Amino acid sequence: MNKLDEQRQKEIQQAEELLFTGPQALGFAKGLFQGHFVSDWVMPYPRVDEGERPQLEQTLTELRKFLNEDLDPAEIDRQADIPRSVIDGLGRIGVLGMTAPKEYGGHGFSQMANCKILEEIGRRCASTSVFVNAHHSIGIRALLLFGTPEQQQKWLPKLVSGEQLGAFALTEREAGSDAANVQMQARLSEDGSHFILNGEKRYITNAAIAQELTVMARTPIAGTDKTAVTAFLVTPDMPGFEMLEARMAKTGIKGTATGRFALRDVKVPKENVLGPIGKGLKVALTVLDFGRTTFGACCTGAAKTCLELAVAHANTRRQFNKTLGEFELVKKKIARIAADAYAMEAMTTVTASFIDRGLEDYMLETAMLKVFTTERLWECINDVFQIYGGSAYFTDLPLERMLRDARINQIGEGANEVLTSFIALVGMRGPGMEFKEIYDTMMKPSRDGMSKAWAAGKSRLNATIRVPDVPVQSEQLRAQARQLGRLIRHFNFAVNRALVTYREPILDMQLIQERIANAAMDLFASTCVLSRIDGEIQSAGRNGNTASPDHSAANLFLRQSSRRIRGYLAGLTDNDDKAVIAAAKSCLTSGSSRVA
Ligand SMILES: Cc1cc2nc3c(=O)[nH]c(=O)nc-3n(C[C@H](O)[C@H](O)[C@H](O)COP(=O)(O)OP(=O)(O)OC[C@H]3O[C@@H](n4cnc5c(N)ncnc54)[C@H](O)[C@@H]3O)c2cc1C
Repeated sequence: MNKLDEQRQKEIQQAEELLFTGPQALGFAKGLFQGHFVSDWVMPYPRVDEGERPQLEQTLTELRKFLNEDLDPAEIDRQADIPRSVIDGLGRIGVLGMTAPKEYGGHGFSQMANCKILEEIGRRCASTSVFVNAHHSIGIRALLLFGTPEQQQKWLPKLVSGEQLGAFALTEREAGSDAANVQMQARLSEDGSHFILNGEKRYITNAAIAQELTVMARTPIAGTDKTAVTAFLVTPDMPGFEMLEARMAKTGIKGTATGRFALRDVKVPKENVLGPIGKGLKVALTVLDFGRTTFGACCTGAAKTCLELAVAHANTRRQFNKTLGEFELVKKKIARIAADAYAMEAMTTVTASFIDRGLEDYMLETAMLKVFTTERLWECINDVFQIYGGSAYFTDLPLERMLRDARINQIGEGANEVLTSFIALVGMRGPGMEFKEIYDTMMKPSRDGMSKAWAAGKSRLNATIRVPDVPVQSEQLRAQARQLGRLIRHFNFAVNRALVTYREPILDMQLIQERIANAAMDLFASTCVLSRIDGEIQSAGRNGNTASPDHSAANLFLRQSSRRIRGYLAGLTDNDDKAVIAAAKSCLTSGSSRVA
């Protein structure tokens, strides 16, 4: 086996261990790749529970008042610091422990309700929303999910109130996108009472202001010479904890403290191991599922601000004796921002509901939400920036800050390229295994193999000829529902064809994977939008409203999304991929001097 094959085997083994242990439920996204519409995951459109709504409304009212009066995003950006008074205020309202159980002082909110809170913060200040996410969505999440009762009792009350802050430390120099490549070492002391940690972490939000850090380090696997990642609860007062850089100067979200630290022979008691030994990556990925839903909520909030700003300017700024809003190229941008903001909210709500319902394995959907909302927000900000023209460029308006702040979204919590490839590969695994069954049997026929291959062949054929049912309740949405069903069949056909055409090399063909993942993301987004429109029509009917709600932006989203999906799928066979690879290869082998 050569080095490349060895690396590939290692990656596959890691991915299998992380993602594919135990029986696989057919979730919504995996269903799409099989040509199914798993309707009970996405319909009817989820709503925050009746019992929870009054408390959510009350908290939102309190939060809005606090943010309007006491949060100054421009000052936070200028000072590159979130004042303690803001952190204390958020703690008082309960934002720093929104989903923690009431017994620890939390609100015990669902993830859907929590997303509404984060959307409200994301509307105003990305530094503050990233700070809250780092503390709550990922910082103390591991403790909430994997902590023992003793650990939770010891750590949670102060973290939930905001008296103490949390951070989540995975990234290192050698472990960025390749998160499994953590190098920080943890070895058990001779008396077995503690672990000794050594190594460095970088780019860690809240590192310098946190009193509890969830730190990932490698521990030996008993009886082997191998190691695996384990999660530890580390406090900065432990001897050997060294803050190398408390606040790394950076482009955006300047109010957050992003730091580098080293652990030098830090003794961490055995009681501070979080979750099973050697399962730290599983802890990390599970935690990130939560972080990605609140990411979606923050992006939704920011997109709504883009829309408000765009409309305000387009209605007031006059050029050529007209308001800007009278020009079609401005209208186009405003319509697109409105359509995307509607879809982002729908997708966030549906994905958060998967967590609340305790559904199994929604890692694909949270990855889709993260990539989709961060990419759309970037477009929204670019559009509103353009509408403001030269004025957007100056620091008296929030747009240049919003632009700088939004750029991290496509990189943090999994770079979008890595997640895009992940979505395609994990999604294609189901149909890919069925094709493998058929292929293996053709090569080496056996009675058992024949029956499995027959079942696999039937499943593939069914998915290709059958248009899945999309069960909307509102009569007026039937045509859109049928259209979505046809797109899913078209998608499934295209995935099958790609698998048959490219076979195993598809694992490395990221340009093909990107189109498949993009189409899948738009199918998921369209589903959430359709479900939301349906829910709103039904709810208006129940409330006796005869006038149908205005869904022009939502309908535009469905049209544009459908056009994009067809474009991605057409690109699977009609593309410039060979030319792209050849041009890149030429640059990469000859260096940048060629360009001159
Ligand atoms: C402001 C900020 C806050 C952060 N907060 C935290 C935190 O609180 N905790 C934490 O643990 N980490 C944190 N991070 C780290 C963040 O998660 C990493 O930056 C991110 O995972 C990317 O890793 P990297 O920067 O090493 O980029 P690299 O891994 O070097 O990747 C660089 C680029 O290469 C491309 N790329 C990489 N791999 C692939 C691939 N397989 N296929 C295609 N393209 C690829 C992508 O375009 C990617 O953007 C933070 C980072 C920043 C900037």
